[in-house]
Amino acid sequence: AAALELRDVVYRYAPDAPAALDGIDLTIPRRGHTAIVGPSGAGKTTIFSLFLKFLRPDRGEIVLDGRPLDQWTLHDLRARIAYVEQDTPLVPGTVRDNLVYAAPQASDDEVWRALAAVRMDDRVRSMPGGLLGDVTTSTLSGGERQRIALARALVVDPELLLLDEVTAQLDGLTEASVAEGIRRQATRGAVVTIAHRLSTIMDADQIVVLEAGRVRAVGDHRSLLATD
Ligand code: ADP
Ligand code: ADP
Repeated sequence: AAALELRDVVYRYAPDAPAALDGIDLTIPRRGHTAIVGPSGAGKTTIFSLFLKFLRPDRGEIVLDGRPLDQWTLHDLRARIAYVEQDTPLVPGTVRDNLVYAAPQASDDEVWRALAAVRMDDRVRSMPGGLLGDVTTSTLSGGERQRIALARALVVDPELLLLDEVTAQLDGLTEASVAEGIRRQATRGAVVTIAHRLSTIMDADQIVVLEAGRVRAVGDHRSLLATD
């Protein structure tokens, strides 16, 4: 069954602008990793904005769990979808606080596992958001804060995990461990990444090639290499 279904989705940022998304048909399975790739301006971020209801399609329909997105309240949507981008804000408090606020039911073991997936399990007591939320006083680097944001999304164990270029600034060892975390989450729910790293793309079960607001190809890396 599909987690998300897009049917002939069109979106324009202005009535006279070219369509940022120009008739997208796409099925995102309930489990597995879908990577969206394509040149800058292809419409990748716009798709995520529609999933999160930051934007509404001009035409067509997006269906989540068999129900049109229009019928979902933001509250119900937030309970099912986690979103991590570059510079995702963290809350004041410790690393552990950030994860526990997001997933109050999570056990200590689950918190630890999510942090281990991003190789930050030795930093539970760090204050990633800085003192009183002043990020300039954070004792973690930008890359490390991003890993905490990712761990926070993993511990929530969402039905749909949206990752916007989260592996871009990671070193090799950390990237390998994050890739493993993504792989594990993809056995539990749907993971959709906006990916640039070849390793992330090769790892995906489904690769969607976007170009100028259209789906140019869909497949895994073997079938895409065979047909292009
Ligand atoms: P990608 O994420 O693949 O780089 P985007 O989804 O950001 O692409 O952009 C798709 C198209 O929509 C591009 O032509 C871009 O210029 C345009 N666009 C994106 N955001 C805005 C905006 N806020 N206002 C107007 N046009 C936008
Ligand atoms: P990254 O490549 O992950 O962005 P940085 O080069 O910014 O890392 O930081 C390297 C190390 O310095 C990290 O271990 C980080 O915890 C530490 N660090 C960064 N900023 C601060 C700070 N303001 N106070 C203390 N330690 C810091």
